Amino acid sequence: MKSSAGVAPDVDVIIVGGGQAALATAYFLRRTSLSFVLLDAEQGPGGAWRHGWDSLRLFSSATWSSLPGWQMPPSDNNPPSRDDVISYLAQYEQRYSLPVKRPVWVESMQAVDDRIVIAAKDGRWRAKAVVSATGNWSKPFIPELPGAPHFSGVQIHSAHYTSPAEFAGKRVIVVGGGNSGAQVFAEISEVAQATWVTMTEPRFLPDDIDGQALFEQATARLKAIQAGQPTPIAGSLGDIVMVPSVKAARDRGVLRATRMFERFTTSGVVWPDDSESVVDAIIWCTGFRPALDHLVGLNVINANGRVDVEGTHSTKEPRLWLVGYGEWTGLASATIIGVTRTARSTVMEVAEFLEGLPANL
Ligand code: FAD
Repeated sequence: MKSSAGVAPDVDVIIVGGGQAALATAYFLRRTSLSFVLLDAEQGPGGAWRHGWDSLRLFSSATWSSLPGWQMPPSDNNPPSRDDVISYLAQYEQRYSLPVKRPVWVESMQAVDDRIVIAAKDGRWRAKAVVSATGNWSKPFIPELPGAPHFSGVQIHSAHYTSPAEFAGKRVIVVGGGNSGAQVFAEISEVAQATWVTMTEPRFLPDDIDGQALFEQATARLKAIQAGQPTPIAGSLGDIVMVPSVKAARDRGVLRATRMFERFTTSGVVWPDDSESVVDAIIWCTGFRPALDHLVGLNVINANGRVDVEGTHSTKEPRLWLVGYGEWTGLASATIIGVTRTARSTVMEVAEFLEGLPANL
């Protein structure tokens, strides 16, 4: 890395982000001769896992939740807890001496001559290539509904939810038909007067299909696609896994969802049949959008708020790759085990772009 006082450091590759996708990419970059730095907005290691709720656990065992090179160590918790994942990612950074700078919130980027200039509040960098690995967590999505700004109760997104304690005894609506909605509703319903609202009827997996079985199915599916064979797969990663808290809610007879309310009043919500409910809090488990605001200056954001890619490579900006956001940047790339494949292929492409030779990874 070249740098002198007042001059932006010049590196081959800047990785924006410091979660699992960024670390997997850095692992492969370490095996090349390219210089690189990771710029991460968090105060410490762990990416979005630092913000998971207290009871959050992985769907799969440690062996099915590992980054390249070093398996997640077994823990007393099976499947591993949120804190186990954070600890694993922290150790992973140290093990491979990954050069992470924190907290650095990358605000913008600009293409200047043959470099991309990366600007944060307290610094600037110049890079020959950029890998964006900023995930989705910092862009929680909440649907717009009439009257929402005038609702006097609490509204939070699952991105900021930590535990049911603060909702004890309250009238709470949990919105969202995915795993987050089911898990948050399950534990909230133990302490609060809770209603679960979903757009369509939730899809529950059979009790014997756990998250690990889903990962195995996804892998089998990929192999079948690669071999040009039919893909007879039951269930998808979006269906609700019957983790212990969700099963317990079903056994208590409360695991029922109703359809979406139509608008807010100042003190509650109005349902499609015009009836009203008084509500103290809404918890939105309504997903995320890719966190790509830092790329606006590169003119690569499309009408869907994404970047057009071939694999992980921007089709518009030759110096830009995106790793880890979801299926659109690689099958299962938003999972711990799934990101290895796209991180490896990305670094091979970056190395070829910068050095003219495919890296042997
Ligand atoms: P993140 O972890 O979000 O990391 C992105 C990093 O970039 C963050 O540190 C962020 O602060 C930083 N950043 C963002 N913008 C900027 C910026 N402008 N400048 C600098 N830094 C920036 N996966 C599994 O494999 N198994 C599971 O069981 C599982 N369960 C899940 C349960 C829930 C409820 C959720 C929400 C996800 C789950 N996942 C699971 C999915 C997945 O592992 C996570 O979404 C994962 O955090 C994605 O990693 P990432 O590195 O792409 O993004």
